[in-house]
Amino acid sequence: MRTSKRIEQLPPYLFVEISRKIAAKRARGEDVISLAIGDPDLPTPRHILDRLHRAADVPANHRYPETDGLPELRRAIARWYQQRFGVVLDPDTEVLPLIGSKEGIGHIALCFIDPGDVALVPDPAYPVYAIGTMFAGGEAYPLPLTDENGFLPDLDHVPESVLRRAKLLWLNYPNNPTAAVADLGFFQRAVEFARRHDLAVLHDGPYSEVAFDGYRPVSFLQAAGAKDVGLEFHSLSKTYNMTGWRIGMAVGNARLINALMRVKSNLDSGIPQAIQEMAIAALDGSQDCIAEHNKVYQRRRDRLCAVLQEMGLRVRPPKASLYIWARLPDGYKSGDFAARLLEEANVVVTPGRGYGPAGEGYIRLSITTPDDQVDEALRRLQAWIGKQGLKR
Ligand SMILES: *Cc1c(COP(=O)(O)O)cnc(C)c1O
Repeated sequence: MRTSKRIEQLPPYLFVEISRKIAAKRARGEDVISLAIGDPDLPTPRHILDRLHRAADVPANHRYPETDGLPELRRAIARWYQQRFGVVLDPDTEVLPLIGSKEGIGHIALCFIDPGDVALVPDPAYPVYAIGTMFAGGEAYPLPLTDENGFLPDLDHVPESVLRRAKLLWLNYPNNPTAAVADLGFFQRAVEFARRHDLAVLHDGPYSEVAFDGYRPVSFLQAAGAKDVGLEFHSLSKTYNMTGWRIGMAVGNARLINALMRVKSNLDSGIPQAIQEMAIAALDGSQDCIAEHNKVYQRRRDRLCAVLQEMGLRVRPPKASLYIWARLPDGYKSGDFAARLLEEANVVVTPGRGYGPAGEGYIRLSITTPDDQVDEALRRLQAWIGKQGLKR
């Protein structure tokens, strides 16, 4: 039996070593606290669950869904975009529900990329942009996100030879893992860049509602002309604590939406309709839960940032997203540092290197761990500073 080249080309799973150590510690009965996972710990709001219970009893929901989703859901998505961002979408041609946004993010390369084509992909980044590209036979060209460029890719320095082969530009703000945000001016420059070089812009924006201190992230589609060149992926996962239900959407350029729909209609049979009804309840219902969740995250953010600073790490309290991106003192490798925190404090953080070479020198902490565990993690980190800390 021989596996495909695309399977062999998959990068080694960079968290293997840490996962192995966590498993060994837990097997010895040690209590390990993870600040590594970006998955809301708070439950899906009650009114959304109530809709699922009712929808389960409707016989039509027991049958195959349509690939392009319930018309009512597409209309609810369009209404939500109009209310939240002032962006007008045609629910029949510019909206496509997805089985979680990851599904669409992974599949869209099949609409653009032929062998030899290039996608411009941020580094560090959510791994699916580059892997989807590779699965389609293309190459990901990394755009480094650094402290110096404010974690915004420097579009003016992509070589001409790369641009000639490039078909896609991936962007993601509020960003995972760096927690950086982008303003409308940046998205406007991305639209112009895409026009100049005949690229499609794919913006991944699942954290637009997870924001703090009164900050309101913008949508890529608010940039003038954005719909002519691109799409935005969005998700109910982070906004409404619905990661387990698997529902998201692509919105924007009708030709791109249609291409993605055609790929999907050959691969999947849509989203369970009862879950589509949950999404309608979430988008049409009261949005008060969002502010309540963000208050909880903001408190965790502030407490974690304070201790990280005591540890000698450089952190800017993030304006949005579920992450803190902390810079290690010079000379520390992210993998070694994460291994040491696990070994000496029983606290798990994610090494920045796992998101790409430019993530080296950073660790990512998530704020989706329950409060009592955050309390305990903070106690352990403080004790760790007292005992060994960092040589500075
Ligand atoms: C969580 C996340 C997603 C995927 O969310 P779904 O649950 O698949 O909708 C997409 N992009 C980024 C950057 C994420 O962090």
